[in-house]
Amino acid sequence: MMQRSASPRPPRAAGWLGLLLAASLVGGLVAGCASSASANGMRSSRSGGTASAAGRPAGQPSGTASPAAGTAQPERPASAARPASPVSTPAAQPLAGKVIVLDPGHNGGNGSHPAIIDRLVNVITEWKPCDTAGAQTDAGYPEHAFSFNVAVRLARLLRADGAKVILTRRNDHGVGPCVTQRARIGNRAHADAAISIHADGGPPTGRGFEVIAPGLVPGHNGAIIGPSHRLALDIRNAYHRLTREPYSDYVGTRGLDVRTDLGGLNLSTVPKVFIECANMRDAADAARLTSPRFRQRVAVALAAGFVAFLVPDSHP
Ligand code: ZN
Repeated sequence: MMQRSASPRPPRAAGWLGLLLAASLVGGLVAGCASSASANGMRSSRSGGTASAAGRPAGQPSGTASPAAGTAQPERPASAARPASPVSTPAAQPLAGKVIVLDPGHNGGNGSHPAIIDRLVNVITEWKPCDTAGAQTDAGYPEHAFSFNVAVRLARLLRADGAKVILTRRNDHGVGPCVTQRARIGNRAHADAAISIHADGGPPTGRGFEVIAPGLVPGHNGAIIGPSHRLALDIRNAYHRLTREPYSDYVGTRGLDVRTDLGGLNLSTVPKVFIECANMRDAADAARLTSPRFRQRVAVALAAGFVAFLVPDSHP
């Protein structure tokens, strides 16, 4: 989940542009997704801790997530069928030369370090906590574990397709990094695409997923609005098709949303989206999120979304 702003409306200067972008993104069905940010009613208390964040220095994270953190899974059939030739062909490694940053939301140590993660950071449109503890299912399966496990699985698939993959955290027991640092990691890597992976802590009666694209923050992220919205569509389409997860029925429009209150998007200089893979508070969604098989399906779907975005000719 991503904490939504207490004052969800974007800055006035960005408002109408944001509405236009939102309208174009969702096919003109509903404008103003960016200003509907209060829909899911999630709030985290905000306190002004002063300790410095324990985020990793920029550029330090490698793509080597701890193997122990992920459960070994079989590769996709396409990878298994790859020819034994040492020379990779474009068809075998469609993402060769591409850099992808995966940002698994939250971290396992966040909940026990409020002084660090509650520290306010500037995300341009407002000041927000450095990070949050995230959501969990009613049975206690935490969002940070879900997001990290999906990221490890996804990294494995993307690397098999030839991509260079960088994770914003190495394991699931640290603290942070701050949302500002998470964006900076993608920027410094000059990523071709980036995604923040989350699962929502929405209303118990709500279900489904949504992909969030950045709204325009004038003077900051204009260059990535267009490509980020294309990335959002490709991720939304692949995710819906391959996981059969329904569009969120309580936020966004047809699985899409636009927001200007997320530091990870406001501060990005590379194409980037967020995804709330499902609602942890819904019983049916929770059953899926806690299934390793479903998490692998999520990873396969997100990988397909990246391929669709980065290799347009590969569209099914
Ligand atoms: Zn989250």
